[in-house]
Amino acid sequence: MKILILGGGFAGVEAAIKLRKHKYEVTLISDRDFLFIYPVSIWIPVGKRSYEDTQIKLSDLAKIHGFSLVLDKVTKIEAKNSIVFGEDKSYSFDYLFIAMGMGKVKTKGLEHTHSICGKPEESVIIKDLLDNLITKGKGNINVGFGGNPKDLTATAVRGGPAFELLFNISVLLKEKGLRDHFNLTFFAPMAEPGKRMGEKAYGKMDTFFEHYKVKTHFGIKIKEFHENAILFEDDSQIPSDLTLYISGGDGHPIIKESDLPQNETGFIQINEMCRVEGFPRIYAIGDIAAIIGHQWAAKQGHVAEIMADVAIFNFHNEQSGKEKRMSYWERLHIICVMDSGDGAAFVMRTAKTDFMVPLPIIGHWLKKGWGWYYKNSKMKRMFRIPGM
Ligand SMILES: Cc1cc2nc3c(=O)[nH]c(=O)nc-3n(C[C@H](O)[C@H](O)[C@H](O)COP(=O)(O)OP(=O)(O)OC[C@H]3O[C@@H](n4cnc5c(N)ncnc54)[C@H](O)[C@@H]3O)c2cc1C
Repeated sequence: MKILILGGGFAGVEAAIKLRKHKYEVTLISDRDFLFIYPVSIWIPVGKRSYEDTQIKLSDLAKIHGFSLVLDKVTKIEAKNSIVFGEDKSYSFDYLFIAMGMGKVKTKGLEHTHSICGKPEESVIIKDLLDNLITKGKGNINVGFGGNPKDLTATAVRGGPAFELLFNISVLLKEKGLRDHFNLTFFAPMAEPGKRMGEKAYGKMDTFFEHYKVKTHFGIKIKEFHENAILFEDDSQIPSDLTLYISGGDGHPIIKESDLPQNETGFIQINEMCRVEGFPRIYAIGDIAAIIGHQWAAKQGHVAEIMADVAIFNFHNEQSGKEKRMSYWERLHIICVMDSGDGAAFVMRTAKTDFMVPLPIIGHWLKKGWGWYYKNSKMKRMFRIPGM
């Protein structure tokens, strides 16, 4: 039986590990040779974590867990013909797990911005640009995020890392004694940015902006990014020496061109067992899959892992002739430690409740600890906490 996994991020690696636990032969195809631990990459621009330390080599993971690794860029998927095309060769499969993450919405002038949620190497570029501005001693730094107008569920809005980077930059400037020489502005086109974290968390954002001396500009659509300014649809503009912008999530370009069922945004349509609608041998997991029926949910790393876990459970039970199936809906929730450089806030949201608890100092160390745990547990250097 040929089992292929496309993508070596949170979802793909978790699927490979779980499949190997059940002793299946697995091949994982990735266009990069490392897993990037995005949640802790927010510290790269402010110099509190190295780029190298934020990666796990896929070849090490392959050796430890016993899966085959192929480094190739997927260029086309023909689901009906059970074939995947890469830049180097083509791959047939009996079962396919698609985990290649998501694309991003294009806005005019996007090339004048940098994103902490883009290619991993962008985090290092942001660090260099920030260091240059710090050397100059003054400037206008703008950090924001946008949505995808086609994404009616808004599950692909990625706001948390923008807040984290913004507050971390404020703390860094303060540490350098330069905070009063910089204008730091948060911008977003939606009227209530951050509301996905829940009503209670959103209600506390003003306190954060005040504490970190951040100006705000939201509720007005972005018209265009310029080299030295951000232009809005009401013709207002903000001067900018550094624009850090997280675009709304969009379907992966390879999926948009494929014969796989997609929603209006280009995310793969799956059922609650993570199986692709109309394709019983194909699963889609992580950011690439459309989350339906849970208007409040968000695409997150732990959701990607839950989806991988659920997909493998259902796949294995099917192979073993067991009737029991699992739904990722039952385990869906938003959980995040939002780091602010000198502290953090613990945010939790489920279908029934939401809350935000400030965690001064300890929250920062909690997130650092999670980064350490993620890496070491994946490398089998320590015991894995069930569900994490
Ligand atoms: C800065 C930042 C901070 C975040 N913080 C948190 C947090 O605190 N908590 C949380 O739960 N989530 C957080 N997230 C979200 C989380 O990182 C994502 O939800 C998670 O990475 C999704 O996993 P994935 O496997 O679906 O996609 P990814 O991790 O994006 O992995 C996709 C993989 O597919 C590969 N790939 C893509 N295209 C191709 C191709 N054509 N051919 C071959 N391979 C391909 C990529 O190289 C990559 O290895 C954060 C995200 C960012 C960017």
